[in-house]
Amino acid sequence: MTESTPPVTTTDDGIPAPSDHHSQTLGPNGPILLQDHYLIQKMAHFNRERVPERVVHAKGSGAFGYLEITEDISDFTKADLFQPGRKTEMLARFSTVAGELGSPDTWRDPRGFALKFYTREGNYDLVGNNTPVFFIRDPQNFSDFIHSQKRRADNLLRDHNMQWDFWSSKPESAHMVTWLMGDRGIPSSFRKMDGFGSHTYLWENAAGVRHWVKYHFKTDQGIGFLPQADADRIAGEDAEYHRRDLYDHIKTGNAPSWTVSVQLMPIADAADYRFNPFDLTKVWPHADYPLIKVGRMVLDRNPENGFAQVEQAAFAPANLVPGIGPSPDKMLQGRLFSYPDTQRYRIGPNYLQLPVNAPKVPVHSYNRDASMAYINGGDPTYAPNSYGGPVADPSAELPAWQVEAGEIVRNAYTLHSQDDDFGQARTLYRRVLDDAARARLVANISGHLSNGVAEPVLSRALQYWSNVDGNLGARIATFIGVPQASTPVA
Ligand code: NDP
Repeated sequence: MTESTPPVTTTDDGIPAPSDHHSQTLGPNGPILLQDHYLIQKMAHFNRERVPERVVHAKGSGAFGYLEITEDISDFTKADLFQPGRKTEMLARFSTVAGELGSPDTWRDPRGFALKFYTREGNYDLVGNNTPVFFIRDPQNFSDFIHSQKRRADNLLRDHNMQWDFWSSKPESAHMVTWLMGDRGIPSSFRKMDGFGSHTYLWENAAGVRHWVKYHFKTDQGIGFLPQADADRIAGEDAEYHRRDLYDHIKTGNAPSWTVSVQLMPIADAADYRFNPFDLTKVWPHADYPLIKVGRMVLDRNPENGFAQVEQAAFAPANLVPGIGPSPDKMLQGRLFSYPDTQRYRIGPNYLQLPVNAPKVPVHSYNRDASMAYINGGDPTYAPNSYGGPVADPSAELPAWQVEAGEIVRNAYTLHSQDDDFGQARTLYRRVLDDAARARLVANISGHLSNGVAEPVLSRALQYWSNVDGNLGARIATFIGVPQASTPVA
């Protein structure tokens, strides 16, 4: 506030308030009067201050900034925000996944990496993580997976046995769990982690040529991680460690940035690529599809009101703009529904009218009314109409792919030649990590397994690690002092 004389307090109706201190009573010691509208409004509003927290990614921190396209990738997408030289205002929200709103920032967990770009063609959201892969590949498993990572029904405690029960029963989780238990499972700062769109999307250029695409955001601050012991200590000392770090750096002019790149796969390659390119538990190895630089993302402005601009920020992978389409990735298909649905429940059906969620372009929609309608178009309220109402544009159809006609099934993806559940985890362990990182991985997994994991889950977890790498399984068994898994497969 810059005024030398502060403004007069008002009610939310703008009426001057007579006191910031005292309720109105019948005599100094008498009962409080119901007519004290100032007091009643204050208490009633306070009682309604919270909206339901997100079931996942509850604790988040955000900042505004911009995406600047420094290269010419117009051969690959006609999306306006990716055209050469374009600079688009944006919002980023980083989060933990399983912890609740007040949980410590430094718990081992993937980090959400949700981006909203206020483009000239409406809002484009890229709702990824700091991991290129995920634990599961079918949304049928999502609520079960999250339940296993949250709290038990009886004592409301988190439970490693429950976590490993799920992971070890779902071998496709091995790549993500290797990643999570490694150094990058606890970043030292939101500024020092990479981000990934994670899913495969579809790009289309002005001539109709299509490529599958994956997004990569490489931190320009360098990767930073916290060893488990440091993370545990910080969790007690400063639960807001990452939030504070992001806010303070931006406040003091140290705007973090990320180099934005994509991997592009010609649409025809997908059918016989060695991995199923839509399986969210797999990466596309860089040697097959190298990173192509696109531009730079900078976060240089803190929110003024964390609740209005971060807690109520609503991201949805379904927000795709012309030139960008979804893919057959089943997890993406599930999220196209679940994200807008959760925001309708959490914030309300008109959540897109809130300033942080509203596009910076005019909205001409036939959706009307519902709770808390703020912007409501006039007549006509239906289409088609004879009175000059908005008319849809068939050329705005998002890019799509051809699906072979077939029976309706409930099946896994079709397998590609090198698809398996452990191979890419094995590559990460054997080829990407160095000796010191491998030793920390063994210690992190062993520490986690030693904390409440019982039979039959423990044996199955040891087998799971032996399937990733026989030596890794043996090292973990030795570390926690139990017999090694019987059949190391690799
Ligand atoms: P490359 O050898 O070309 O690259 C290795 C990748 O691993 C780099 O992106 C690197 O990120 C990342 N990385 C390095 N250390 C760790 C760590 N401790 N935890 C997680 N990731 C790390 O690899 P390939 O493309 O051939 O893939 C090999 C393996 O690398 C994959 O199985 C996957 O586990 C992992 N990986 C692959 C990615 C991809 O999109 N291809 C992305 C991220 C990981 P950086 O450059 O920031 O150090």
